[in-house]
Amino acid sequence: MLRLPPFSYHRPVSVAEATGLMSQYAEEAMYVAGGTDLIPNMKHRLFEPAHLIALKSVSELSGIREENGYLRIGAAETLAEVARHPGVQKLFPALSDAAGHVAGPQLRNAGTIGGNLCLDTRCTYYNQTSFWRGALGYCLKKDGTVCHVTNVGKKCVAAHSADTPPVLMTLGATITLAGPQRKRRVPIQDFFIADGICNTRRTPVEIVTEIRIPLSAANRRQAYAKLRQRKSIDFPLLTVAVSADVEGDGTVQSINGVVTALGARPRALSGWDDLAVGSTLDADMIEELAERAHQQCHPLENLIVDADWRRAMVPVYVKRVLEKLRTT
Ligand SMILES: Cc1cc2nc3c(=O)[nH]c(=O)nc-3n(C[C@H](O)[C@H](O)[C@H](O)COP(=O)(O)OP(=O)(O)OC[C@H]3O[C@@H](n4cnc5c(N)ncnc54)[C@H](O)[C@@H]3O)c2cc1C
Ligand code: SF4
Repeated sequence: MLRLPPFSYHRPVSVAEATGLMSQYAEEAMYVAGGTDLIPNMKHRLFEPAHLIALKSVSELSGIREENGYLRIGAAETLAEVARHPGVQKLFPALSDAAGHVAGPQLRNAGTIGGNLCLDTRCTYYNQTSFWRGALGYCLKKDGTVCHVTNVGKKCVAAHSADTPPVLMTLGATITLAGPQRKRRVPIQDFFIADGICNTRRTPVEIVTEIRIPLSAANRRQAYAKLRQRKSIDFPLLTVAVSADVEGDGTVQSINGVVTALGARPRALSGWDDLAVGSTLDADMIEELAERAHQQCHPLENLIVDADWRRAMVPVYVKRVLEKLRTT
């Protein structure tokens, strides 16, 4: 049985109290929301914080409502709540779909959308017990000096493995971060960085308090698809999200796509507007967009499934998701 390392548990009720505690304990503390990712990682000794600062009782982090032209989702809302919320289902069905496909029901009842945004990257050589990792001499991301995926010591390329961020990116969402002194808003496309060791611009003291999605994005057609080993529980091997503005006669005004679970951050696909704007999304166009995505995606051997096969699945899933978008 894997045991948790010892820690003190704090349950603040406000952002000010939570960030105050984090400032006090600094490197010795971590935030915990649903704990569905952090707790297993602690059991694997990937993190051993002496203090856990729980976010579930922080009232500013709850609630899903329309506010000043945005749908505002509190970061501590569970994935289950996001998936079944009537406003999310009506305005942003792809987000409801993505949240409803994370892990399994128990984990969605505990895991939060804020935790999903801050999810640690994953890798075959990292999400293992300390004994397993030690037998291999550990790795660059934790306790070692070499990356076993690239065989050099320079960069961690562990995979961003969260389902909701690609959808949020196609919808132009913004993330609110609160520190002890100030609050700031970051467009989600600027939130992630290509560093598998720490793949967001959030500083350790900052809390993700809310996600804001412009209500204007509700007019866009949107769709999401996920490749995983089994139809439940498993993390994504590939996630594809798309959204498009389409005129009544079917002419595309704008289109964007985001893929993830390949590298350390979600990737916005480029060149789609050039291909599709002014045209209709017929079978030939879908084929061309899928081929453009294939050219841009080069997964590494960072997850348990063969990278060449995952690459071959990119156009397959892009086509599926575009077909879904065409018929929404
Ligand atoms: C078997 C299994 C399968 C899973 N499958 C999937 C899957 O298919 N897709 C997927 O996306 N995820 C999956 N997960 C991961 C996880 O359940 C979800 O990503 C979930 O949304 C994490 O949220 P949480 O609240 O539990 O995060 P926690 O575990 O509490 O925290 C995760 C990280 O985020 C930080 N954090 C949490 N909330 C905040 C906040 N508001 N501000 C700042 N930092 C914060 C924590 O400090 C920690 O570093 C799976 C997990 C398991 C165990
Ligand atoms: S990508 Fe390399 S450095 Fe990162 S977790 Fe995997 S083996 Fe470690």
